[in-house]
Amino acid sequence: MTEYKAPTQDMAFTLREVASFFDMVKTCGYSDVSDELVSAILDEAAKFSGSVLSPLNKSGDRAGISLNTNGEVVTPEGFASAYQHYVDGGWGSLQFDPHYDGQGLPFSLAIPVQEMLHAANMAWGLCPLLSQGAVEAIFENANTKVKDLFLRPMVSGRWSGTMNLTEPQSGSDLATLRTSARQNGDHYLIRGSKIFITWGEHEMAENIVHLVLARLPDAPAGVKGISLFAVPKYLVNKDGALGERNDCRALSLEHKLGIHASPTCVMGFGDNGGAVGYLVGEENKGLACMFTMMNNARLTVGLQGVAIAERAYQDARAYAFDRVQGIAPGDSTPSPIVRHPDVRRMLMTMKALTEAGRCLAYTGCTAVDMAKSSNENAESRQYYQRRADVMTPLVKGWCTEIAQEVTSLAIQCHGGMGFVEETGVAQHYRDARILPIYEGTNGIQALDLIGRKTRRDQGAGINELLSDIKQFCNSDRTQRELKASTLERLAQATAFVEIALERVLENQHDEAFCGSVAFSYMMLTATTNAGWLLTKAALRAAELSRQSSQPAPWLKAKVQTADFFADHILPRCSGYLASIVAGSESTMALDEASF
Ligand SMILES: Cc1cc2nc3c(=O)[nH]c(=O)nc-3n(C[C@H](O)[C@H](O)[C@H](O)COP(=O)(O)OP(=O)(O)OC[C@H]3O[C@@H](n4cnc5c(N)ncnc54)[C@H](O)[C@@H]3O)c2cc1C
Repeated sequence: MTEYKAPTQDMAFTLREVASFFDMVKTCGYSDVSDELVSAILDEAAKFSGSVLSPLNKSGDRAGISLNTNGEVVTPEGFASAYQHYVDGGWGSLQFDPHYDGQGLPFSLAIPVQEMLHAANMAWGLCPLLSQGAVEAIFENANTKVKDLFLRPMVSGRWSGTMNLTEPQSGSDLATLRTSARQNGDHYLIRGSKIFITWGEHEMAENIVHLVLARLPDAPAGVKGISLFAVPKYLVNKDGALGERNDCRALSLEHKLGIHASPTCVMGFGDNGGAVGYLVGEENKGLACMFTMMNNARLTVGLQGVAIAERAYQDARAYAFDRVQGIAPGDSTPSPIVRHPDVRRMLMTMKALTEAGRCLAYTGCTAVDMAKSSNENAESRQYYQRRADVMTPLVKGWCTEIAQEVTSLAIQCHGGMGFVEETGVAQHYRDARILPIYEGTNGIQALDLIGRKTRRDQGAGINELLSDIKQFCNSDRTQRELKASTLERLAQATAFVEIALERVLENQHDEAFCGSVAFSYMMLTATTNAGWLLTKAALRAAELSRQSSQPAPWLKAKVQTADFFADHILPRCSGYLASIVAGSESTMALDEASF
């Protein structure tokens, strides 16, 4: 395994030229954010991720984590000092409010930084990922007292955060959760247990703030009776100093397929009378509050897909240039395998999917910034909110699906050496496998896209996206610079999404139909959107190349990557559409004996 080298050039280009980052900066009034600042942040984050986190990835996977007799999680060597490095560097506070000691930068600027953390060391990166979502949920929903109690140390990273939803009987369906809460003066007492809690216990941070979903005694049944509580590992005195240990602890750790260095805990709350918790938001409105955290986490989990795909691609590319085997077409002596057409196919598939995923994730995150902070009118903010809403399941669903394909191809490029653990690519494959499962499985993301993001607004958000793509395909500028076949394939995929949308709206009251086609609908829409954004990148690369006397090779490669995507990935859209047109008959007509 090679050490991770952050693709800062592609990251900066994607932000600037694809995600319209500087338009957002202007519209949102981030007057201090310049090109120089972006480069400085990306360069420093690249150093941190490449030299501190990446070398701990393989050793962390091998060492794993354990729970000692004091109930403390023992993390792999180097993890705690890397965490301290992260806190000292202020990496956790980039996008948060200066009132709570944040740096007041755009969310979308924190995104390439987070990509680097996950690419370098996904298991370690999960700790900040959850913390950032917890900060967001408290910031958006809690009262001033709770914010003042928790936010500053969480923003700085001195305290970390977790998300406690899942219970044994309550996974995708949170309506069934049983953890209870009852008021006790100015706080609540929480009792129950949670499973699968990422970084639920560790000693890297001074305190951990668990965001816990629980039910009050007379709460309505189902999701309308869930409240959200902030439950600190150590109680916090009025002056902010840490007090005694709260009544919550990790009972055991899961043994997992991947992310071995990330503790996934079974958590017990209130075994000795009740864990002290503070209400976040209103009683019985907890799920809506948690959605602030989940939406953030869904985008960043999608980003993890891009990150691990990039890491796997870097390893496969290095190996393909190094490994000599057979004689490739046009060669007379044994060739590095990168010269074999099928290896080139695999590498280009990996590269095209990864770069397209980056375009999708960064664009989704700038839409979030625009929806939240645009100084334009309310109509414009609503427009960007619709775009962010549509993009969230696409980013989570598609980027985590392509991570499976890319990490698997990385193994294939390594041949037998990929299947053994020494090369390290097997770890990427194992680590990536959780991504389509947690943070709402991809089946749930697809239902979100077809339900809340299509039926609810009768396709308004999707139609706005399609109209942008069509405008792009038809513009003189695009047609002048790009290959006709690339634009034809993109236009064709866009037409497929239109047909799919029509089918979905025609059958919108047929739940079996919607459930059967949802995944294909998500993949079709995301593949088209990602293909568009990659082609948008190619357009700017072509223009910059033409304007330069000595065009940089990577600009040419950008155009070639978009052409490859159009030739080899966009054709998948016709398969997705065919499956949508087939509808639910071949799934729902089956009786149980057919399985
Ligand atoms: C490593 C790891 C870390 C995790 N971290 C956290 C964490 O920090 N906090 C936390 O609260 N949870 C966490 N989880 C839990 C995770 O979010 C759940 O595993 C996930 O939501 C799925 O729930 P489940 O496992 O109960 O699967 P189930 O809900 O039992 O689903 C099983 C399968 O059925 C499908 N399915 C279920 N319901 C539907 C439906 N309505 N429509 C279509 N398909 C459906 C799903 O797609 C899935 O493939 C973590 C899990 C793991 C493995």
